[in-house]
Amino acid sequence: MDDVGASTKHFEVYSKKIFGNFLFLKYLPYFRAWGVYEEIGGDEWSEIIEFLDKHDAKMTVGITASWVEKDGSMTPFPEKYPEQSDILKEAHNLGVIEIANHGLTHCVVGKHLPKLFSSNRKFHREFWDWLPQSEHDFHVATSQSILKEWLGYPCDILIPPGNVYSMKTVKACQENGISAINSSINLEQNHNIKYIEDKNVDAFHDREIVLYGKSWLFDKIKKYKEMETSFCFLKEL
Ligand SMILES: [Zn+2]
Repeated sequence: MDDVGASTKHFEVYSKKIFGNFLFLKYLPYFRAWGVYEEIGGDEWSEIIEFLDKHDAKMTVGITASWVEKDGSMTPFPEKYPEQSDILKEAHNLGVIEIANHGLTHCVVGKHLPKLFSSNRKFHREFWDWLPQSEHDFHVATSQSILKEWLGYPCDILIPPGNVYSMKTVKACQENGISAINSSINLEQNHNIKYIEDKNVDAFHDREIVLYGKSWLFDKIKKYKEMETSFCFLKEL
C-alpha cells in the first residue's frame, strides 16, 4: 500500500474529462480523478494490523517521509501523524508490515498546488530525470534519515512515486543505503541496486481504503487466502 503520509492526496487534483480541469470543476466528484481524500486514521490502522496478524497476512507500506504543506514547507511523517506512526512502527517491529521508502515529498515542491485551468498530475511525481542530481540526492538522503530516525534503522527499499525515476535516483540510492527499487519500470542499466519487478506485487494506494473502506482490503486478503496464496514482503521477493 503506497501513499501513506503523502500530501499528494490533498494537492493532486485533476480530471480526465474534457473541461474537467476548469477552475472548481475538478473538485466535483463527477470530474475528479484523484484527490482530495484524508489520511487513514489510527483506529483504522489498528484494525488493519489486527486483521493482517489474525490472517497471517503481510503488507509492505510505502511511506512518504514528509508531508508538504501549502507553502512548500515539509513536516516529517512521525510529526504530522504521530498516532499513525506509532502504530505502524509497532506493527513493523512485530513483523506484520514492512515499511518502504515512498519518497520524501511525492511531488515537485513548489509545483504541487492545484492549477486553475489544468492538471497538476505531472508534478505529483518526485524523481523526474529533468531535476538535477542534487535534488535526487537531497530527496533520497532526507527521506532515509527521517525514516531511520523514526524506525531506528534505515529502510532498504525505494518505491518511486508513480514509477518515475532515473539513473540519478539510482545513484542517490546507492549513496544512501537503499539496496532495492520496486517499480513497474526496469531501467535495465548497469548498477548494483536490485530491481524488484511488479509481478507478484498487488500494488494499491491508501486511497482505495479511504474510498471503499477497510472491507475492500479485508475481502482482497480473504480472496488470496482462499486461493492459498502466501504473503511476503517486498524484501522477500
Ligand atoms: Zn504514490
